[in-house]
Amino acid sequence: MKTIFIVLDGLGDEEIPAFKNKTPLEKAKTPNLDNWAKEGRLGLLLPVFKGSLPTSEEGHFSLFGYDPEKYGLSRGIVTAAGAGIDVERGDVAIRGNFATVKNGEVVDRRAGRIKDPGELIKEIDGLEIDGVSFSVKSAKEHRVGIAMKGEGLSAQISDGDPHYGEGESGLKKIEPLKDDKEAAYTAEILNKFLEKSHRILKKHPLNKKRDLPANYILTRGASGVVDLPGFKERYDKKAACVAGKVLYKQVGKLLGMDILEVEGANGLPTTNLEGKFQKAREAILSNYDFVFVHVKATDSLAEDGDFWGKMEFIEEIDRQLAIFNEFTDQIIVTADHSTCCLMKSHCHEKIPLLVRGRGSDKTRYFSEKECAKGSLGKIDQRNLLKKIVFSDDVCQ
Ligand code: ZN
Repeated sequence: MKTIFIVLDGLGDEEIPAFKNKTPLEKAKTPNLDNWAKEGRLGLLLPVFKGSLPTSEEGHFSLFGYDPEKYGLSRGIVTAAGAGIDVERGDVAIRGNFATVKNGEVVDRRAGRIKDPGELIKEIDGLEIDGVSFSVKSAKEHRVGIAMKGEGLSAQISDGDPHYGEGESGLKKIEPLKDDKEAAYTAEILNKFLEKSHRILKKHPLNKKRDLPANYILTRGASGVVDLPGFKERYDKKAACVAGKVLYKQVGKLLGMDILEVEGANGLPTTNLEGKFQKAREAILSNYDFVFVHVKATDSLAEDGDFWGKMEFIEEIDRQLAIFNEFTDQIIVTADHSTCCLMKSHCHEKIPLLVRGRGSDKTRYFSEKECAKGSLGKIDQRNLLKKIVFSDDVCQ
């Protein structure tokens, strides 16, 4: 049995008073998805996350059955990939924070939670130190993803971030964590980069105006490309990924999926949905067993608090999904986490799950409330593939 696996990022939501207490998914007119709910089964996924709110990275790795913690999917690789950097084998990926440093002391670890350091990032992105280039991209607010690209690098280096409450406020030099020349060299180059970027950031006009200038980058979580058992190895399925944004292509790449490019696929509400679904259909009808399709704007619209936009976008997705109406194998529609329009952020709500092609239950519509009544029950996100998608036990 083949599987089309559609992730509508941040799909689940909470009740919206302006929608007479319906959620955007519940309010949206979705005749195709409702039919699939009738033909198939529903359930709810329990999101997996470590911090205060679920992230897309954690959600995706969990959806594919890879526990983010167990596989050491460290901050560095996840942040850099999430920021849109194409991290390649041999690179060192690092998570960074803009911070305020005065006289060698860390005054504020987040530079007053600077909102838009875009102009500062421009000044340090692409810097080169002794032949090693630094790719720096925004990872929202004070956070950046960094990748060091060059020969002979190692991720065995310490954090520069003094972290919380350890009684330390002094700047820490990056130290090698392993007694070899690659680690020593990487630490040396990164220290040079941090000093150079400090000099550049200090002088920047944007910082002259700030009480807490964003004049230093605290680093942590250095990581290379993580070696995961690939999708093929793990599940014996040939898998492909159709996505617009780099993070999701990166997730697919880390799991050994083939990345299929679609013109006009960009993660925005104007993305080429038709082209993405078309590409997924072609792939599944050719030699792929599993095609992961990622759609981003359900999440971004919710983060903007735009519940009307989210609802309309879900309706547009539903129209385009008609292309799969005749598909007789398995289709999954779910999300990596929920995103609540009223909170304008990712949230803890359980995640709607639709499985078509594996028997049916009494559910009639695709909505959070109907999912709560579905025969699949509540499932830990990490168990979805093992217990449902690739399981022989789910009734036919
Ligand atoms: Zn997400």
